[in-house]
Amino acid sequence: MTGARSAPRSLYVHVPFCAKRCHYCDFSVTTSRHPPIVEYLDALRADLDDWFASREWQRRLELDTLFIGGGTPSLLGAEGMGELAELLAQRFAWNPATVEWTAEANPNSIPAGVCAAWREIGINRLSLGVQSFQDGPLAWLGRLHDAAGAAAAVERAREAGFDRVNVDLIFGLPADVPRDWGRDVARALELGVTHVSAYGLTAEPRTPLGRQVDLGRVRLPDDGRYGDEYLEVSRVLRDAGFEHYEVSNFARPGHASVHNWHYWDGSEYLGVGPSAHSYLGGERIWNVYRWDRYREAVGAGAPLREGSERPTPAQRRLERVWLGLRTDVGVRWDEVDVEGREARLAAWRDEGWIAEDGEFLRLTPEGWLRLDPLAAEVAGWSTDADELTRRTTA
Ligand code: SF4
Repeated sequence: MTGARSAPRSLYVHVPFCAKRCHYCDFSVTTSRHPPIVEYLDALRADLDDWFASREWQRRLELDTLFIGGGTPSLLGAEGMGELAELLAQRFAWNPATVEWTAEANPNSIPAGVCAAWREIGINRLSLGVQSFQDGPLAWLGRLHDAAGAAAAVERAREAGFDRVNVDLIFGLPADVPRDWGRDVARALELGVTHVSAYGLTAEPRTPLGRQVDLGRVRLPDDGRYGDEYLEVSRVLRDAGFEHYEVSNFARPGHASVHNWHYWDGSEYLGVGPSAHSYLGGERIWNVYRWDRYREAVGAGAPLREGSERPTPAQRRLERVWLGLRTDVGVRWDEVDVEGREARLAAWRDEGWIAEDGEFLRLTPEGWLRLDPLAAEVAGWSTDADELTRRTTA
């Protein structure tokens, strides 16, 4: 049964607009400098109405976390975000003193007035798509801000009263892109951010970057350099007092993202907007991916949910292990089902890939570089075949 008591306490809202599409991006994004805010909010209203009707949620749902992501939510500006907040307040309730309310912004579209207005609305955590504090890599990535603009955005956020500021940084750029990765990490520390998300560049198949890599015109770094940069950011931030609490995420103590934890610890969450995912009652449900199709579906009264799946017990177990090993909590020993257990664990220990105590098995940063195959083995799956196959039936 789905009722208000089993309702999600985390909400994700996808804002599918960017002023320009970055050539490596495969998110659900449409390019627009002036997003159709009225139409977008009408569509979100229809999405929410549909959820509340289908789940028979009668009252406003209590939230612990809200996350406005994208895309580029800062293109909503002060007014658009204010209207979005009013729309959400019709369906949800949250305690302003305890809620974690994150919004993502790009440095070139978050002027001081928008920062101040967002704080006024109640947003208390800002996540900036910085990627680098150097002009060379920013130009190569096709970003609309430069190094000075990236630093200035962090400073504006802090001046507006955001004491929780994340910066996204990308590592693993091609060797011929002029970039000093260590200098980017140091700059984030100098600017006093409380959280860093460090992602390796990947060449997704449907993107211009993916095509360039396929054609041999761009060469991504080999595993050695990729791993060196990953271990460098981990070492430098931990030395500076950050916790490396998830594969890609680092936080000052007390500043880990509560919203993201809910994705990893199996909590329920609701997602609205194109491509948004929800996890409710053991089922994963996702929305129509593209903004134009989502908007058309709203106009035609067609379903906004594009698909759903209910993982089998074996898949759930693999997912639980994979999500647990992503974090610095790890997995309980009773979840560990490694074939040839003692020998495999001894080998991983020798390589420095695992850390253990009486209760949990965890991965080290070196282990996180091999997360997928290690998680598969820990969950009792074999990675020998092209596709994962369950070693024993669940
Ligand atoms: S700003 Fe972010 S979401 Fe927008 S196109 Fe670039 S990478 Fe994608």
